[in-house]
Amino acid sequence: MIMPQEALIVEPVQILGDNYVWMFASAKNQYVAVDPGEAGPVKQWLSANDSSLSHILLTHHHGDHTGGADELKREYGAKIVGSRADSRRLPQLDIAVEDGDLINLVECQAEVIATPGHTIGHVVYMVADALFVGDTLFSLGCGRLFEGTPGVMWQSLQKIQTLPGTTKIYPAHEYTMTNHGFALSLEPDSKALLTLQSQLMAMNNNDIPTLPTTLAHEKMLNPFLRCEDEQFAKKTGLEAKTPIERFAVLRERRNHY
Ligand code: ZN
Ligand code: FE
Repeated sequence: MIMPQEALIVEPVQILGDNYVWMFASAKNQYVAVDPGEAGPVKQWLSANDSSLSHILLTHHHGDHTGGADELKREYGAKIVGSRADSRRLPQLDIAVEDGDLINLVECQAEVIATPGHTIGHVVYMVADALFVGDTLFSLGCGRLFEGTPGVMWQSLQKIQTLPGTTKIYPAHEYTMTNHGFALSLEPDSKALLTLQSQLMAMNNNDIPTLPTTLAHEKMLNPFLRCEDEQFAKKTGLEAKTPIERFAVLRERRNHY
């Protein structure tokens, strides 16, 4: 496993309301786009930055993550990277990856970690200290279980949690405010969540992304990463259940929040 060395500079392109396409440099004037659900805003961003696109990293097959991939490939000759397990339902892949693969992105490398749960073929990408998590993990939340069982998603989240706490987490959606509301509903007396609330509101009001977050922050405050915390389990009335059962109940409650 590559250990994070230097900080990766990552910039957001906002698309489709609440999706982010994360952009980072693979060489001088060459970028990588993660989950480009739309091509137009990415093209505008690249031309404003006088740059081209070398690679497209796809975390999973949903249209809000893949919709712009083919057009960007045609325009820039960028290589499309995605999960081999999902190759039938992803845009045509130039590099098909699986868990543990290291892929070369011009002057940097990405490590692939398989995180099934939201979809069966979902993967995340670690580049230096940045983890691009698609719809597996959100700030204060996690992806819906469209294809995996709670146990499968739980294992995926466990894998992510073995990374250093300083890892910067880049989810594909701005869901932090709603997730915060849900987290606070579980733990209305949490000082940390109450402090965070005013910070998040200020960011939202000024249209500043609440992301990235860090793994350490999420381990402390994300309900879905706290299922082994007995005190937290008592607060949610789930102390009699196993951590995976608690996870399943919380995910279900979040679906109806
Ligand atoms: Zn999705
Ligand atoms: Fe999505």
